[in-house]
Amino acid sequence: MSAQLIDGKALAAEVKAEAAAETEHLKAQGVHPCLAVILVGEDPASQVYVRGKVNDCKACGIESREYRLPADTTQSDLLALVGELAADRAVHGILVQLPLPAQIDEKAVINAIPPEKDVDGFSPVNVGLMQIGEECYLPCTPAGCIRMIQSTGTDISGKHAVVIGRSNIVGKPAALLLLAENATVTVCHSRTKNLKHLCANADILVAAVGREGFVTGDMVKPGAVVIDVGINRGADGKLHGDVNFAEAAEKAAFITPVPGGVGPMTRAMLMKNTTCAAARQNGITL
Ligand code: NDP
Repeated sequence: MSAQLIDGKALAAEVKAEAAAETEHLKAQGVHPCLAVILVGEDPASQVYVRGKVNDCKACGIESREYRLPADTTQSDLLALVGELAADRAVHGILVQLPLPAQIDEKAVINAIPPEKDVDGFSPVNVGLMQIGEECYLPCTPAGCIRMIQSTGTDISGKHAVVIGRSNIVGKPAALLLLAENATVTVCHSRTKNLKHLCANADILVAAVGREGFVTGDMVKPGAVVIDVGINRGADGKLHGDVNFAEAAEKAAFITPVPGGVGPMTRAMLMKNTTCAAARQNGITL
């Protein structure tokens, strides 16, 4: 392997230390940052994610409120809870763990979270503000990707960045944030022609496909920064990224591992969004 590893765990620890310091600063001014996390049903992966978020809050001194609702919760009951939390001045961030059971319209729930408490950055208002480069909450995974690229000392400006994937939660916002950093951005998806060729010309390659080992060594430009967002459960029962790590690491200058890469950074960025929400709602500068 010739690439340098971008250590997501170490970087996440740095980001969480920042969030912890911000929490102290807020507490000194009488504001106790608080994140409400709602989980509907018993999806095992979602349970793990929620447990992780609650633990991160603890580690940063942020108060967390956990709401576990049964899988047959109605949309109106969930909306009523979101409404209560929206009105509660002691709660600064509201996160509804996705996916939601089939009887609940995800869009309706996301739209019910007031933009100023939407620490996931998924609401249409935050998405629109991000699009026009105004103050907002950036979605945690793409924001984490940018921080990881910056941690390598790479100047994103003027680089050719290729994002594979165009989902609303990863691919599209990752492309927008790279554009905001003045990269020249190509977004690839399932209908893209010449995908291998496009990737092989990327100075920065972000893979958010959801297919184990999709990015092979021949798709990596020598010296590229490779960010692997994918989390795929392999036949071996372990987690694997979208990138064939062994092959890509021979060509890249910097690469993220899976696990221990984008995942921990995503969680850490949520803590930053929560302290930021508490500060903004109380007119405090961090
Ligand atoms: P989606 O399934 O919503 O999107 C996948 C994207 O990949 C789509 O845009 C799709 O194109 C594209 N795609 C699928 N197959 C191909 C192909 N053969 N060639 C080119 N493009 C293709 O997934 P998400 O964006 O939600 O997640 C992507 C991955 O990231 C998953 O593994 C997920 O688990 C992981 N993830 C990790 C997070 C973390 O914290 N590390 C957070 C969120 C997600 P099209 O639009 O044309 O269908």
